[in-house]
Amino acid sequence: MHRLAERVHVIEKSKIEESLVVLERRPEIISLGAGEPDFPAPKNVVEFANKMLKKGFTHYSPLQGRHELREALTKKLKKENKIDVSPDEIVITCGSKEALLLSMLTVIDKGQNVIIPDPGYVAYRPIVQLIDGIPKHLHLREEDGFAIHPEQLKKLIDEKTRAIVINTPSNPTGTVLKKKILEEIADIAVDRNLIIICDEAYEKLIYDDAKHVSIAGLNGMMKHVITTQTFSKSYAMCGFRVGYAVAAADVIKEMKEFKICTTLSPPTAYQLAAVEALKNSDKYVQKMRKEYNRRRKLIVRRLDEIQKTRCIKPEGAFYTFPNIKELEMNSKEVTDFFLKKAKVLVIPGTEFGEFGEGFVRLSYATAYEKIEKAMERIDQAIRKI
Ligand code: PLP
Repeated sequence: MHRLAERVHVIEKSKIEESLVVLERRPEIISLGAGEPDFPAPKNVVEFANKMLKKGFTHYSPLQGRHELREALTKKLKKENKIDVSPDEIVITCGSKEALLLSMLTVIDKGQNVIIPDPGYVAYRPIVQLIDGIPKHLHLREEDGFAIHPEQLKKLIDEKTRAIVINTPSNPTGTVLKKKILEEIADIAVDRNLIIICDEAYEKLIYDDAKHVSIAGLNGMMKHVITTQTFSKSYAMCGFRVGYAVAAADVIKEMKEFKICTTLSPPTAYQLAAVEALKNSDKYVQKMRKEYNRRRKLIVRRLDEIQKTRCIKPEGAFYTFPNIKELEMNSKEVTDFFLKKAKVLVIPGTEFGEFGEGFVRLSYATAYEKIEKAMERIDQAIRKI
């Protein structure tokens, strides 16, 4: 047995990883566990990437990322997010996950508190702990539609608090934070001199009348916010590993320096392919969104019909987060029950923090027909209890 560093214990064994192993061996199981689009990357982007590789773009990129991509992003950020920045205020990263890590490395000191949403994306807690920060879990409640309650947020802030992580649209709940709530969070951050790290990985996956609002685009907020975005979800380009962070130039400069210790940069040809995605993939994004929406309606309708499950209608991302408390099992037991009796894989809510207890996450990044079948199987299994 090797003697390993203390920090290996920060990473808890993930049910998600366990599930992927189960899936590999048991093809009869329908997975509603997916955390990535089931669509392929846009054809034009794949072709463009191949062309760039053939042309010889097989070398390192500058630490901050290719200038073509940063320039294209300034236009996108201004138009879609009302964030008016120069290329110096953007750093290209290996997915937004690296952007989150670099953000925390740059602004959090040892022993400082970082407020993270709970239930919230699985990477926030370990990243905070790896950089010797202290995660403080903000309980997002079903009765608030899993939105941040500004008064609850205020209660968690003390003299050791340095940053607040927010995520809109949210993984795992699908909640989209309304402008009014974002304005209140912005006021709190300015008042208490806190940095907001805003994870917008699902910004383009928005349904009904919901609108994605970037907190960095609100009046005067740019200097208080680090925004992270990605090509992974909106453009179905997870495997390209192209994400980025947007913040004040002095913050970005230091984030860039840390890249010497991490990835240097995502593959050069893929950064150029991301420019192609920005220019010529709007229709494809719309097509995917339309299909996600159709699946979302199906899954929410079925969750309402099925006994003992109920669900707040999510307005973004590709997840539903139903309440399963009436089943009188905890969320891990319900996951095992669905796997055994319905042959459907879902993720226990507790994977996303202790306040995820009583809920499970069902992803609709899966074919419509498979969702139909999975929901029918869950329905039948619950009827037999
Ligand atoms: N943020 C959220 C909320 C996510 O769900 C994910 C991936 O699942 C990421 C960030 C990281 O994605 P990527 O590194 O592919 O950009």
